[in-house]
Amino acid sequence: MSRFYWVNEDRAARTKHGGYLDAAHTWGLPGIRCHACGATWSAVAHDFPAIDLSPLPESREFLKPRAESFPEFARLRELVRPLLPPHIELPPGTSFGPLKGSAVGEFGAMAWLGPRLLLRRDALESLQAEGVRGLLGCRTELRFRKKNAPELLELQIEPRGRFHPDCIPSDVPPPCTTCGRHGFGRPDEPILDAASLPQELDLFRVGNFATMLIGTEQFMDAVHRLGLVGMTFRELPTR
Ligand SMILES: [Zn+2]
Repeated sequence: MSRFYWVNEDRAARTKHGGYLDAAHTWGLPGIRCHACGATWSAVAHDFPAIDLSPLPESREFLKPRAESFPEFARLRELVRPLLPPHIELPPGTSFGPLKGSAVGEFGAMAWLGPRLLLRRDALESLQAEGVRGLLGCRTELRFRKKNAPELLELQIEPRGRFHPDCIPSDVPPPCTTCGRHGFGRPDEPILDAASLPQELDLFRVGNFATMLIGTEQFMDAVHRLGLVGMTFRELPTR
């Protein structure tokens, strides 16, 4: 059984380089105002930068972040569903297309934008050459204020696998049967549901808590062998 690690930004490395990104994805599903559970919400870090919505005649309807009623959200979701593999969930707020915005300052081999991870092209190719599986680097549209800007590619990191139910507090209500919202804070002691974890990826997000990145031991070892700076690793138990 492989070991799994919670991958986080190393904030000390950011302080060292001082680079800063201000960017958002090109298109997105709206958030939702759910008539059933009463919540207005959208998910974070369900990002598909490789998916291009420009061929859709309705692509303009995905430009403006906003909240919609469930029926309107569901109509828009059905328009994009054929563009993605069937196992992708598409919650409210799912985003598509390249990151657009500005980049200021110096960057190392990697840059973080909240839970989003960008790699310099040479760092991505080195990890792939080390045998890390499933890394998909996507073009970004970032404006740099200097010459010789690095080429930063955003990784499309799929939400896959789940927390084990044992680490979700028992007083958390079950998911809303209309909108799917399952609201809970990050568990103090996260446990991954072993049977749900992907076999073919060395980096993914927790499917029901997508801001958390999970790397395999192979991923962590490759990052360390290459001396890539900018990440911390904490091993998580599986059950
Ligand atoms: Zn709901």
